[in-house]
Amino acid sequence: MITFSNETILLKGARVFEFEEIDQLFQQKIHQTILSINLSALIYNLKEYRSMISPSAKIMAMVKAFSYGSGSYEIANLLQFNNTDYLAVAYADEGVALRKAGITLPVMVMNPEENTFNALVKYDLEPEIFSFSILRAFQKYLYSAAINNFPVHIKLDTGMHRLGFEESEMQLLAGQLRNNSMIRVRSVFSHLVASENKEEDAYTLHQSAIFLQCCNTIQEALGYPFLKHIVNTSAIHRHPELQMDMVRLGIGLYGIDHDPVMQSKLKNVSTLTTTVSQIKKVRSGDSVGYGRKAILKSDATIATVRIGYADGYPRSLGNGVGSMLVKNKMVPVVGNVCMDMTMLDVTGADINEGDEVIVFGEGLPVQTLAHWCNTISYEIMTGISQRVRRVYYEE
Ligand SMILES: *Cc1c(COP(=O)(O)O)cnc(C)c1O
Repeated sequence: MITFSNETILLKGARVFEFEEIDQLFQQKIHQTILSINLSALIYNLKEYRSMISPSAKIMAMVKAFSYGSGSYEIANLLQFNNTDYLAVAYADEGVALRKAGITLPVMVMNPEENTFNALVKYDLEPEIFSFSILRAFQKYLYSAAINNFPVHIKLDTGMHRLGFEESEMQLLAGQLRNNSMIRVRSVFSHLVASENKEEDAYTLHQSAIFLQCCNTIQEALGYPFLKHIVNTSAIHRHPELQMDMVRLGIGLYGIDHDPVMQSKLKNVSTLTTTVSQIKKVRSGDSVGYGRKAILKSDATIATVRIGYADGYPRSLGNGVGSMLVKNKMVPVVGNVCMDMTMLDVTGADINEGDEVIVFGEGLPVQTLAHWCNTISYEIMTGISQRVRRVYYEE
C-alpha cells in the first residue's frame, strides 16, 4: 500500500474507464473541500485563444498568484508542454518555485525587489524594470556580480498609473539604455486598463498609440530588436490589431472571459466542491449561526458544509446572498458564513450527510459568485486558500 499526504495527484485515463470514480474516492480520503482543475479544459482554452492570435505573435501565460489560484508548477508545466513562449509571475518567489519544480521556460517577474536580485539571477528569472530607481539598483547589482546582458523587460505606464516609465521620461530612459551592455532588453510592454470595455476603446487606442511612440524612442536607442506587447485576454479578441509580438493571456486560460460570445467558446476549468458534515431539522423561530442573524420563518432542514471564509468563501455571501448547488438544486446560505463552515437551507432537497455540494463550477459559474458579492472572478479565484486541496485531472 502506498501512503501519501499533501501530494498533487494527476489522474490520467480515457473517459470509458470512469476515472471520476477513483477521483471521488481520493477526494473523500484526502480532504472534503476540493478545487478540481480540468487540465484538458485549460489546454482547450489555450487553443481557442491561440486560434485568434496572429501566428507571428508569442504567448506569455500569466501564472501569477498560483495561476489565478489554480496551482503553480502543475499549470506552468502543462503550458510549457503546450507551446507557450513565456510565463509571468508577480513576485520573485513565485518564479523560484517554478524553477525548483523544473520549469525551463523564460519567466518574467513583474514586481522585483532589491532583496530578490540574487534569486532572480540565480534562477534565471527576468525582471520587469519599471522605474529609474529599480534600473539603477539592478545595474549596481549586475556590476558587482560581473554580469552582462541580463535579460529584462521594460514596463511603460500608458495610463494605468501603477508601475512603469512615463512618456515624459522616454528621452532620459533612452539615454540610460543606449550602449548599455549590462542589461539586454527582451521586451517593452504596457498594460491596458479597460480592454474589455467598449466604452473605453478610444482610451485603449490612446494607450497603444503612446506605447508605440515610446517603443520607437527605445528602439532608436537600443539598436537591436525586442518584443513589444500590450494585450491581455480581452484585448486578444477585442483589439486583435494590437497583438504585436506577444500577448499576455491570463484569465481566459482559466475559462473566463468578459465577453459573452468568447465565454461561450471556453470550457470550465475549476470546480470548487465541499461536502455536508451534518444535516439537522431546525424549528421555525430558531436562529442559525453566529449573531442569530438568521431567524427561521418556518421549519427548515439545515446542512452544514465544510467551507468557510478561511477557505476563501466570502463572508459577504452569508444570509441568503450566496447559494450552492446540491444535486442541481440551488440552496441558499443561511446566517453568517463561519471561518470553516457554512450553513445551507436544504429544505426539500434530496441530500444526505457526506454528499457533495458545488460551490462554483459547471452550472454555477464563479462569475455568479463574484456578482453576488460585488467583486470580480479574479478575486474569488485567487482567494481560494492554500488549505483547499487542488486535484488535477485530464479527460
Ligand atoms: C494579470 C496581468 C495580465 C493578464 O490579464 P487578464 O485580464 O487576466 O488576461 C496581463 N498583463 C499584466 C501586466 C498583468 O498583470
